[in-house]
Amino acid sequence: MHEFELIRSIFQSSMMANTQGRNDILLGIGDDCAQVKVPDGQTLVFSMDTMVEGRHFPFDADPLDIGYRAVATCVSDLAAMGAKPAFFTLALTMPDSDPQWLAAFAEGMAELAEPIGLLLVGGDTTKGPLTITLQVHGYVEQDHTPRRSQAQVGDDIYVTGTLGDAAAAVPIVTGELQVSAERFDYFYDRFWRPSPRLIAGMALKRVAHSMLDISDGLAQDLQHITKASNVGATLQLSALPVSEELLSWKPDCAQTLALTGGDDYELCFTAPKSAREEIQLITQTLHLACARVGEITASGFDVEGYQGELSGWQHF
Ligand code: ADP
Ligand code: MG
Repeated sequence: MHEFELIRSIFQSSMMANTQGRNDILLGIGDDCAQVKVPDGQTLVFSMDTMVEGRHFPFDADPLDIGYRAVATCVSDLAAMGAKPAFFTLALTMPDSDPQWLAAFAEGMAELAEPIGLLLVGGDTTKGPLTITLQVHGYVEQDHTPRRSQAQVGDDIYVTGTLGDAAAAVPIVTGELQVSAERFDYFYDRFWRPSPRLIAGMALKRVAHSMLDISDGLAQDLQHITKASNVGATLQLSALPVSEELLSWKPDCAQTLALTGGDDYELCFTAPKSAREEIQLITQTLHLACARVGEITASGFDVEGYQGELSGWQHF
């Protein structure tokens, strides 16, 4: 079998590529194009992400983890739009076609894609340094997408979950830092297995003025909202939510990591003060931690209690 045919057959036979029971997917993997019917009353949102070995994840990582994380980080953009995951395409560049590596990579992708109804409908395969590009697509009602440009002065600023774990995990996943087995297990997962806040995004889109997922660090990503909305923001460093694990490991810099560290894929959103009760109800129902960390102001960007430089993950 030609090596690219082998690759296609591995993906095509995966449960995440099974179109049965899907009225919206008219044609999946195997033809020149995939064919999709967007459900009535819905619009299509889509987003693309590329991951390069050695740049976005370490060399020789477990393909199962790479597959899972590729889907998780990409799907997180759908969460930030309050969209329901629908289907994705995969452009895979790899140095050689190792069937075992591919099967594990596909399994890792399917582990997340299948339960959230994200169907693999096609892709492209080429030879070269390991590079993974996913385009994810979701459905959302036309009038309900929270935009980065719609934050309003006086809005509360919220973040879901806890922040900083993934950034703290980087030297652990690269093998630069040796830690106890227990700490390793926790932080390894926090880097490799982020939880895209899909349900929360769908529920919160009705009350949020603006929303995004935090990939490059709260300080940096929140500035995407303030710039697009032409407003400012004040954050309280002490209000940033951090995990007990991070606090006990790095009590002195946990909050700074929460402010500047990337890769957590939690949601940051702004909402009017009148929505406080509703937000509490939504997040309690979902058993999801959600912290009020600041306020949208007319101008400026201040972090009360923080003296350092405001930077996050810099691409290139
Ligand atoms: P073409 O030459 O028409 O572009 P290809 O030979 O590249 O088609 O691909 C044939 C089929 O296999 C297409 O349906 C394509 O979407 C699918 N495919 C190729 N590579 C991948 C991949 N990495 N993941 C999923 N589907 C793939
Ligand atoms: Mg063709």
